Amino acid sequence: MSIENKEYPSLSSAEQIKILENHERKYKSIPVFQEKLAENQLFPLISTKVELMQVNSGKLCNQECIHCHVDASPQREEVMTRETMQHCLNAMNKAGIREVDITGGAPEMNPSFKWFVKECSLSGIKVMVRCNLTILTREKYADMPAFYAGHDVHLVCSLPYYEAVKTDPIRGDGVFAESITALKLLNMAGYGNTEKNLVLDLVYNPSGAFLPEPQKCLENQFRKILLDKFGIRFNSLYALTNMPVGRFLGHLTGSGNYEEYMDLLSNAYNPCAAKKAMCRNMISVGWDGYLYDCDFNQMLDLKIDTEDNHISRFNPLSLDRREIILNQHCFGCAAGSGSSCGGATDL
Ligand code: SF4
Ligand code: SF4
Repeated sequence: MSIENKEYPSLSSAEQIKILENHERKYKSIPVFQEKLAENQLFPLISTKVELMQVNSGKLCNQECIHCHVDASPQREEVMTRETMQHCLNAMNKAGIREVDITGGAPEMNPSFKWFVKECSLSGIKVMVRCNLTILTREKYADMPAFYAGHDVHLVCSLPYYEAVKTDPIRGDGVFAESITALKLLNMAGYGNTEKNLVLDLVYNPSGAFLPEPQKCLENQFRKILLDKFGIRFNSLYALTNMPVGRFLGHLTGSGNYEEYMDLLSNAYNPCAAKKAMCRNMISVGWDGYLYDCDFNQMLDLKIDTEDNHISRFNPLSLDRREIILNQHCFGCAAGSGSSCGGATDL
């Protein structure tokens, strides 16, 4: 089923939890995620050592996509301060975390974003940025491709499909054309050229309430069509599942498709994918500095369960081997080939 191009009211984190935990006992067919894990001796799910810090730079974005789990938009005002970014840097250096994944919103719109990237690079931390592409076509951000190339930033860019017909309805009119323009700018800056080592990965997500096709097949299709039609090159493609969180959860419930989608995810439950969930070796920092197991838990306000749950009180010892906070949305990470910020997990 495709996603209707229709607006539904935003859900607070408490309202999302109420739906996911089935407080009104409406969704009888959906199993409990923790019980599915227990069947495979995976519950409680315990983290390993933190190897990656994911930093949410804020909810401000130039777009307002229907599938957005962050509920980001041009109207949002929440952005991470430089002080909080400095705490993130201190924490990574203290814990020996050598990789940061900066997400948003549109990270480029955070006033301290460039400073943070530069400081991370100077500390020898590998920087990955989640870029929505269209922001690069705005005059104010015209220098970003060169800036990224100059700091060896690994770019992970959203492109839900290789045609406007399946991109614009979920991301906005004209987004596909602007995304193609941005990809050409990145190729011109050296991205996607294997000899230059500037990595440009793409992110696909389904244009509706269904699971992604196998990642490798999608990658091959995208590679051929983007090259043949537009002359665009990229490195890899990550196929992500739409998570039943944030604006997408609002669409599922508003359109009466929530139970069907959760049935789809839970019927496709794959214990190998659950075991490789990205929360096991990362920590996610919210725009206000609170710590979460992942970006999705952030949107549900499910903070990690320790006293040191703010980046200003970062304590790596309390993070290793912590019990991960789970809920029904976790079926999204464990369905089919699995889904994480790095794409399918069980290939
Ligand atoms: S999905 Fe990405 S580009 Fe779209 S509104 Fe959310 S943060 Fe912005
Ligand atoms: S939603 Fe978050 S906590 Fe749940 S399995 Fe996925 S990464 Fe882990």
